[in-house]
Amino acid sequence: MSKFLDPIAGFGVTFSTMFKKPNTEYYPEEKTPTAPRYHGRHQLNRHPDGLEKCIGCELCAWACPADAIYVEGADNTASERYSPGERYGRVYQINYLRCIGCGLCIEACPTRALTMTNEYEMADDNRADLIYDKDRLLAPLEPDMTAPPHPMAPGTTAEDYYRGTVTAASADTPAAEAEDDERQVEVSETIRKEEARW
Ligand code: SF4
Ligand code: SF4
Repeated sequence: MSKFLDPIAGFGVTFSTMFKKPNTEYYPEEKTPTAPRYHGRHQLNRHPDGLEKCIGCELCAWACPADAIYVEGADNTASERYSPGERYGRVYQINYLRCIGCGLCIEACPTRALTMTNEYEMADDNRADLIYDKDRLLAPLEPDMTAPPHPMAPGTTAEDYYRGTVTAASADTPAAEAEDDERQVEVSETIRKEEARW
């Protein structure tokens, strides 16, 4: 008896959906907006004057369960400054063949340099193009930003940037550069001493 009713039960689903309004999506002609917190393509953010927020610390790479992020940090110098403070992310790559969109990397980032956009159109026909480099991850420059490398705003420190007190780009700052030079020498000296200790 139950075997006899099985096809009827199966058709029950068909009949119940036959009279519902079709839910057809006309992608890619018509794009439906994602949920506001959808985990799409990552973005490396900038400070309001254009300097990069990434400090090359690699915490995002260590937090990633899929081993999808590769970071190489480097030292800022007086003549070539990409971020406030000592270090910046010289190489930054995300492998979207591996990424599972979990968002652990953005939770790990101490400077809010890394966030995720709602962009999901990342399909491609080859593996190499799905490894996104810094050039495709960096946020675009806003009209009042200056492209790095450039010095920090006059009279400011990295802490001012992290506290959000720097709000726009400014002209070159030779004084800050000199200050920066001194700081770089101090940092190198400390590193040398640390290395000698080990
Ligand atoms: S979203 Fe998850 S899987 Fe993708 S890069 Fe970040 S931590 Fe790795
Ligand atoms: S994105 Fe954030 S966590 Fe990753 S290297 Fe840059 S500063 Fe560190």
